[in-house]
Amino acid sequence: MKPTHIEHIGIAVANLEEAIPFYEKVLGLECYAIEEVADQKVKTAFFKVGQTKIELLEPTSPDSTIAKFIEKNGGGMHHMAFAVEDVQTALNDAAAAGCQLIDKAPRGGAEGLRIGFLHPKTTCRVLTELCGTK
Ligand code: ZN
Repeated sequence: MKPTHIEHIGIAVANLEEAIPFYEKVLGLECYAIEEVADQKVKTAFFKVGQTKIELLEPTSPDSTIAKFIEKNGGGMHHMAFAVEDVQTALNDAAAAGCQLIDKAPRGGAEGLRIGFLHPKTTCRVLTELCGTK
């Protein structure tokens, strides 16, 4: 696997409207997209810093994994996503290297990208996402 860059950093927030002003008014970034990802029961807001995005994640249902994360940790940094060319190949490489996979096959993420998660138990406690166009 050869990631090209950090595709995005995912940050769990209880409420997008309350979180967005920090990124816009303090950091001077522009929210360029708000998108609901029904599959993951979240509403996302995106900002760009160079090639990297900040993805704010607001739960849309109490049984969303983001809702559970906020309940447990109060929100904050949730995951880091690496840009790879082919998500399935990257997942296979990670599994071959001994990583525990959350997703054995890529699924649909925000912005029409393919995504797959590695379990934090085997990634130095950081929930790690692999993200690509195929
Ligand atoms: Zn993500």
